[in-house]
This record gives sequence, structure tokens and C-alpha cells, in this order.
Amino acid sequence: MLYHLIVLGCQMNISDSERVRSVIEQMGFTHTDKEEDAHLLGVLSCSVRQKPIDKVYSRIYKWNRIKAKRNVLTFVSGCVLPDDREKFLKLFDFVFPMSELNDFPKMMKEYGVASPLSLQTTDAEIKIEDYFNQKPVQSAFKPVKIAAKNSKTTLPSNKDIFQLWKTQPNYQSDFEAFVPIQNGCDKFCSYCAVPYTRGREVSRPSAEIVEEVVQLMKTGFKSITLLGQNVNSYGLDCENEILFAQLLEAIGKEGEKLNDPSWVYCTSPHPRDMRRDVVESIAKYKTLGKQIHLPLQSGSDQVLVKMNRKHNLDRYRESIQYIKELVPQATLFTDIIVGFTGETEEQFQSTMNSFDEFKFNMAYIAMYSPRPGAQSFRWEDDIPKETKKDRLKRLSEKLENISLHYNQELMGKEMTILVRTTERKTGYLSGHNEGKIVTRIISKDPSLIGQFVKIKVTEVSGFSISGELVENTAVNSRKTIEAKV
Ligand code: SF4
Repeated sequence: MLYHLIVLGCQMNISDSERVRSVIEQMGFTHTDKEEDAHLLGVLSCSVRQKPIDKVYSRIYKWNRIKAKRNVLTFVSGCVLPDDREKFLKLFDFVFPMSELNDFPKMMKEYGVASPLSLQTTDAEIKIEDYFNQKPVQSAFKPVKIAAKNSKTTLPSNKDIFQLWKTQPNYQSDFEAFVPIQNGCDKFCSYCAVPYTRGREVSRPSAEIVEEVVQLMKTGFKSITLLGQNVNSYGLDCENEILFAQLLEAIGKEGEKLNDPSWVYCTSPHPRDMRRDVVESIAKYKTLGKQIHLPLQSGSDQVLVKMNRKHNLDRYRESIQYIKELVPQATLFTDIIVGFTGETEEQFQSTMNSFDEFKFNMAYIAMYSPRPGAQSFRWEDDIPKETKKDRLKRLSEKLENISLHYNQELMGKEMTILVRTTERKTGYLSGHNEGKIVTRIISKDPSLIGQFVKIKVTEVSGFSISGELVENTAVNSRKTIEAKV
């Protein structure tokens, strides 16, 4: 029996998908890339923008056309707003929040269909082969389960999320991994729907996180990313848990003990909780990657208030001062929204000025679009598209100049690169350095994918660098890296 899974949205969904695959495979399904062949079809939805939601609808309409010809089972999970959940219940066989993933085998049983591995014990149930060989049954459209009687004001419950974290993920890479450290968000930025899809902030037990990271280090993973909506508010929701700086410290110590060469990153911290001790931990341990992604969203205090960001420019400035003082070699990434409701040219200029001040290496710049479920969805989206495009262009040009200036300083330098893939057009290897600057490696040797190599930078551009291999072999131990760079 085959399953096909579509994952939309952010790294959190990608991380969750590794646990979803694991649970489905434990039920006896095998993955297929071809949805036409699958018996179980699932999608992890993202409610952050309308586009992914449109994709969910286009998939389920297609899958229900398949269902009209042969029996298939369909499910949706991930970030789903209460309103969408009601609509999805009419279209999918299973709709469940990620926190209830571990109940999926039970839900299937309640639905009257045995999963492939539970056939022996299912007298009263339809055997799965029989089910898929039968003519399509309309009852397959009946709703099975929802988490709660949700209204627009009800936040999803996170009480079962601990079970999800205990599930062994089916990592999709053997050198890069995401490790969830918390779920949900307490910040309620006015443009964002995440608190309404993922619920309030819940921290994963630190012992479990450290254990997963150590295991990844021992099995040779090179890039490990701690994931959460606000990683640096980790532990604030618990009475007896360490805080984020101490979590980094614990991971840093384990990395030292193992003499591990991997880079451990975190995404994303929130400027309000960016305390000095967090930056001190990053500075102290070699294992902790020297790249910091700190979302600013706007350089105008007035806009930040309207966004309900709970930080102002001075608070952000203070965090950057800690970074520049304690980890001056760290690269700085950010997120920006241009054309937020009511943003004036003057307020946009403040964002332009903040780029001159903070010298970001990379910024993910989005034109504002109202997100269903978020508070700002009710406000007039009054900045014309042309103005948003113009602001996006001007800010991107500024970013490119700043980034180019930084990259020019790297010319001729030797550095360690994690090789991630090959460029589709040229066949050259591609990866990034510790600061996550995208790097082309002048080599077409695919055996180096997933390895650290040493390069000498020979060319730079706005957002990337290129370099020649200093040696044709991987440099995977801390000792070799330090001896060679
Ligand atoms: S901090 Fe703001 S933008 Fe980030 S997930 Fe929470 S509400 Fe959304």
C-alpha cells in the first residue's frame, strides 16, 4: 500500500512531515512520488497565505476525482484555521491537528479501515486491500475527527504535542535535520495567523531535545536547526525547565564533548526575548553556528506598534549590539514586510535606513498581503500593489549592495563549506558556509554532497560566493577543519 504526502509552508511543516512519514510508515504504507498510484493521500497545509490554501483545494478536488474511480483515503493536517477546518471536513476523510498525529492509526480504525499492518486483528473492519479494491463508497466522505468544536476565537489545543515529539522522525536528509523545540506562539502579531493554527507556546522537554541533537551529531549530521516560532522564549511557559540560553549551553557542551564539527542553528528568535546570555552561548561554543536570523519586520516604530510586534527599534538595536560585540563574525539575516496597512513613504524610509544601520547579509522581504485569520485581515489593505512592488525593489537593491560589500571582503579567503546539492543548470556543487552564505563550489563531484569541504573564494556577487576546492576530499572532523581553515 502506497502513500503520497504534500508538504506546504515553512520549515516547521517540513519538520512535522518527518514525523508524519514515520507514523504512516509504521502503519505499513510505503512512500510514492506518484499521487496517481497512492492509496493514502495527505497534505500538510499552511494557512499563512492564501496561495497554499488554494493548493490544498486544488489537490483535494483532484484526489476526489480519483476517489470517484477507486477508493483512496485522504487527510489534511498542519496549519489549518478553524474556518478552513470546517470546509476541509466536507472534502477529506481525516482532518486532524498535528498534535493528534499519533492517533492517526486509531482514527483509521474508527473509520472502519484497517491499516496494512493491523490486518490480523481486524475482523470487524474492512481489510485494507479489500477497501482499496472495492468500488468507491460515498461514506468515505464522512468526517472522522476534529480536535475541538472550534470557533474563530478558539485556539487549538497543544496538550498532545508531547506525544508527537516522542515520535522518531523519518529524516529526509542524512546530513541536515530540523529539531522542533517548541510549538505555537504567544506573540499575536497582527498580520499573522500562527497562534490560531498552532495554539499557545509549548516547550519540548530539554532532555529530549538534547538527546535528539546528540544522536544526530553521533550519526554524522552536519547541519542541525532548532525550530520554533520564537525559539528564544523557550522554557518561559514551564515552571521547571531551563531557558533558551541554557539549552544552547547544554547543546554546545555536548558538541564539545563529542568534538563534533556540525553547525547547530536556531530559527527564529524574537527580538523581544533576545537576551545577552543567548548571544553569549552562541559566542562560546564552536558547535553553535555563527548565523543569526532575527526578524525585524519593519524599521519604523509606528509600524511595529501596528504590527503588535512587542519590540521597537531600540530593543532591536540592543540585540544587534550584543551580536556585534560578542560574535562579530556572525552573519545577520532578517524578515521584512513592505507595504503593511497604512505604511507611509517615510515609514518605509525608516526600514531602508535600518538596512544601512544593521547591514543585513540576507533579508526575506515580503509584500504585505492580508492573511485570513489574522487581526489585520479586517483592516483595509490600502497600499497599492505598485507601491509595494517599488518598495520591495528598492529594499532588495539596497540589500544586494550591502551583501555584495560583505562578500567582497571574503575574496581570496579559505573557508569550510557544507555541500548540499548540485546546481541544476551548471552541474557545479552548491552549499553554504557557516554564515549560510550561498556558495558555488567549482567541482562536479557528487560524492561530496553532505560533506564539509574547504574552498578558496575566487568570485563574489550580491548574494553568493564561488570558490575552488583547496583539496578534493571532505574535511569532516573538527580537527581537520581547524587544521585547514
Ligand atoms: S512571533 Fe508573530 S509572526 Fe512569529 S509566529 Fe508569532 S505571531 Fe506569527
